[in-house]
Amino acid sequence: MLTVQKFGGSSVADAGKIKRVAGIIAERARDGGSVVVVLSARGDTTDELISDAASISSEPPKRELDVLLSTGELSSVALMAMQLAKMGLNCVSLSGRQAGIMTDVNHGEAKITNINTDRISRELGAGRIVLVAGFQGVSENDDITTLGRGGSDTTAVALAAALHADRCEIYSDVDGIYTADPRLVTGARKMDAIDYEDMLRLSLGGSQVLHSRSVAAAMKYGVEVWLLSSYVSAPGTRLARLDGRPDICGITRDKALSRISIVGKGVGRRTLAEAVAALSQHDILTLSADTGDGVCELTVEPQHVMPAMEILHKQFFLSLSHSK
Ligand code: ASP
Ligand code: MG
Repeated sequence: MLTVQKFGGSSVADAGKIKRVAGIIAERARDGGSVVVVLSARGDTTDELISDAASISSEPPKRELDVLLSTGELSSVALMAMQLAKMGLNCVSLSGRQAGIMTDVNHGEAKITNINTDRISRELGAGRIVLVAGFQGVSENDDITTLGRGGSDTTAVALAAALHADRCEIYSDVDGIYTADPRLVTGARKMDAIDYEDMLRLSLGGSQVLHSRSVAAAMKYGVEVWLLSSYVSAPGTRLARLDGRPDICGITRDKALSRISIVGKGVGRRTLAEAVAALSQHDILTLSADTGDGVCELTVEPQHVMPAMEILHKQFFLSLSHSK
């Protein structure tokens, strides 16, 4: 059994958290299975590196910015390897390049084009836990590239597909996918499972739980992904192709655009009309609106985004009034 596990940056932010995550990895490895682990940069490292670059130049060369940003994930895998070694586990850390992750030359937003799994397979064959630095690869010019913010999720899904892994697990500080961000919206409900289509629309709408490219890759290659918590052992949410998609699935927002997206198979013009009416009852003006296939989007004033999320979540997810 081969498992790919990915841990987000806040899950490995300090020595204590690294130790906790090492425990989760060790448990899986002790079950006798092969484990490939993808890590993000610790805590706020990526933001700090970006501001380090900005303190030198307002327009750093993109190639050099990628070299700099790639160090965040490298430091995570090196430290995790030290922790696992201390626990007596056989492991090795690899950069994206060493892990055979090939990308196009689009620095800062590179796309994975191919994965040469030879090195990883060799290390797994030698009985090692393989720790791969997320969010990075190497271009055909042999330059380090990065995959865009949140890109470690895509590293994990792409590796799971390339290695034909039996299981792909993405750990973060939330224990799954909710009808809305449970840290921001009251009464948000966790889902047992979500379809690729709905998750893709939520990711494109601004949900930070999964990098949208990772969802597209999972859908393309049919990789089932388990969204789990690094802190509580709860069942989490399964991302897969579902037989029945719900009429209404989730709501998210893009903070920068003050745009709210309501997602679900049955979402359409009727949903939009109900949403606009519910908001206007609370004196919130909808500035612009659009409906697409399984999604409707509304833009409001920035200060209205969070109250609007509450109102709409209540309207569509906490009452049974919704109809197509
Ligand atoms: N460290 C990168 C970021 O903060 C990639 C990732 O976390 O997935 O965007
Ligand atoms: Mg993330």
